[in-house]
Amino acid sequence: MTGTAPAPFNADDYRARMARAAQAAAEAGLAGLLVAPGPDMVWLTGYAPTAVTERLTLLVLAPGGDPVLVVPALEAPDAAKAAGASALTLRDWTDGKDPYAVTAALLDTGGRFGISDNAWAMHLLGMQQTLPGTSYASLTEALPMLRAVKDTAELELLAAAGAAADAAFEEIRKVPFAGRRESEVGADLADLLRRFGHSQVDFTIVGSGPNGANPHHEMGDRVIERGDMVVLDFGGLKDGYGSDTTRTVHVGEPTDEERRVHDIVREAQEAGFRAVRPGAACQEVDRAARAVIDEAGYGEYFIHRTGHGIGVTTHEPPYMIEGEEQPLVPGMCFSVEPGIYLPGRFGVRIEDIVTVTGDGGRRLNDTTREMVLVD
Ligand code: ZN
Ligand code: ZN
Ligand code: ZN
Repeated sequence: MTGTAPAPFNADDYRARMARAAQAAAEAGLAGLLVAPGPDMVWLTGYAPTAVTERLTLLVLAPGGDPVLVVPALEAPDAAKAAGASALTLRDWTDGKDPYAVTAALLDTGGRFGISDNAWAMHLLGMQQTLPGTSYASLTEALPMLRAVKDTAELELLAAAGAAADAAFEEIRKVPFAGRRESEVGADLADLLRRFGHSQVDFTIVGSGPNGANPHHEMGDRVIERGDMVVLDFGGLKDGYGSDTTRTVHVGEPTDEERRVHDIVREAQEAGFRAVRPGAACQEVDRAARAVIDEAGYGEYFIHRTGHGIGVTTHEPPYMIEGEEQPLVPGMCFSVEPGIYLPGRFGVRIEDIVTVTGDGGRRLNDTTREMVLVD
């Protein structure tokens, strides 16, 4: 991720997000948050350093205090151009100075702080050495729902990213599959995502035939044949917000069994979607999808959780998984993506991004969920 996020947010939006984050930190018993460059920093400030280096860049949020961005002096001019820059104070430090001392001066000694999961270990160690009485918690573990509820502008961006991914699917279904390598179809998919406005392609999974039975298979040299099921799972970032959708197509006429398995996954995906409503626990979405596959006798072949959140990244909390009791809240966005994976044979997965509305769910992907036959 490079450059500042092009999302249409202004300093007031970022000020409100930082205030909300500081409030959430206080409610979680934290003395503050230390945010490293990455998704949280982009979401809180609009700032994404062009290069993340060993020089410390850290946003310090403390309840009751003004946000401060500790930044290397040579990066300060770029940081000052970030959309949220006027909502925070820049505290630059020059080479030769101790950036941990600069940061420590902003913190309550002895406090417990949430720190970005992706902060470099050397920076956390630097802070621990400078403030030995201070302790740290994973920001994602301490505040898993910080970015989970999207506002109207964020929902529009996620919907636009979903529509772009759908447009890519409508084109990819027209290309030849039989006789081409998975990697060639994957390259087509990446081109299409960019053509429809994605600035970043995170994954283009093309799992043909037996490769489709491995949900982690990305794509390879296998030549796609007539008769193959092909799992297509693709997404990335458009205008700073994510897309992620899966459709499973078939090359030529499918067998009765392939149709049946695809129907079961489609019904499971529909059941998961129907379970989305405010107040329902995340695990209810997983249970609803899984029940359909269990009842059809394929339960042991549905080998992953039903979904994950999406926003400024393509994988984030909340997770639709057994044991996750977090209630759904209007504005949350996540995938519903059940699958059946028959080892050595084929796999089927169908995935939409869904957002929670006032009384149910709304899909942000809307290409057909019937099996598409390709050439
Ligand atoms: Zn087949
Ligand atoms: Zn996906
Ligand atoms: Zn997904």
